[in-house]
Amino acid sequence: MELRDKFGRKITYLRLAITDRCNLRCQYCMPTQGIDIVDRKELLSYKEMYRITRVFSELGVNKVRLTGGEPFVRKDFVNFLESLSFNDKLDEINITTNGALISNHINKLEELKINAINLSIDSLQREKFAKITRRDVFVDVYNTLEKLERSNLKLKLNVVVQSGFNTDEIIDFIELSKNKDVAVRFIEEMPFNGKGQRDIKEEWNFEKIISHVKEHYLEVETLKDAESSTSRNFKIPNYKGTFGIIPAFTRTICNDCNRIRITATGMFKNCLFDGGVFNVRDFMRDGASDDELKQLFISTVHKKPKNGFIAEAARGNSVSESMSTIGG
Ligand code: SAM
Ligand code: SF4
Repeated sequence: MELRDKFGRKITYLRLAITDRCNLRCQYCMPTQGIDIVDRKELLSYKEMYRITRVFSELGVNKVRLTGGEPFVRKDFVNFLESLSFNDKLDEINITTNGALISNHINKLEELKINAINLSIDSLQREKFAKITRRDVFVDVYNTLEKLERSNLKLKLNVVVQSGFNTDEIIDFIELSKNKDVAVRFIEEMPFNGKGQRDIKEEWNFEKIISHVKEHYLEVETLKDAESSTSRNFKIPNYKGTFGIIPAFTRTICNDCNRIRITATGMFKNCLFDGGVFNVRDFMRDGASDDELKQLFISTVHKKPKNGFIAEAARGNSVSESMSTIGG
């Protein structure tokens, strides 16, 4: 039994949102006052998340990304990581985090089966960072970055490219990869911010970002992307690290998509841009067996839309929910 959609794409990668709560208020992700968080009992319990992951892993999913909201704000998250590490069918467990709360956990993470940490950092300047995230935690996040770089965990940096805010730092971020073994990834901003399209002066899409970089460097090496990679990857010759661009909004990466998502409240999403297909939490709480879950997952994946544009058109309303509820 495996998960395959009608376009032949095999699903091997689950993104699981641990919570909808967050300690930051990034402008592109949520309004100043935050989002309406759900009642605690509406969130999947760790036991439910463990079961969902196990069932998916029995259907060929071998890679999990834990995200949110901020996964580390949920109590006992590290214990949950520990239990997931016992699942031998998982080859990779990755985490996306804003890094403000994790520096004390890094040694523990190194002992577990954690492959990579994606650390979100949108500015290398303390004041600007505080403006973007609406919290003054740059020093903690940068400290996490340095500790992670010295650890045995792979480190990727997520940088949402925001017109009028941090485009002047694109080169500074690439320069970080000169002496540090990091993969910097520039992400196109999407309207998932809890209120809809922001007033963006200039669209910084993949093409604009790469031309900007090429204007600065004499030589930019194109790297061979791993299968189903979300980013197109590059390197400045002789730099220790790499950089990449995630065309999250222009959606040129859908062809070989291998991903599905479960939100913090248990909504199954075949695509980041769909409106959610069904609620796994309710199905489980109504007593579904593992076999019933498997049948449901198989038939749902079969209906995965061809790409993010088709998924968005089919949802019947506009994309405006916060990424923290979806699990970015
Ligand atoms: N709180 C964690 C963090 O910030 O890394 C994990 C959750 S966050 C929703 C996951 C990723 O989505 C982050 O890298 C964040 O920058 C990105 N993100 C959030 N809102 C976005 C948006 N509107 N457009 C593009 N990326 C976004
Ligand atoms: Fe929180 Fe991450 Fe959203 Fe920022 S991007 S508000 S850190 S969930």
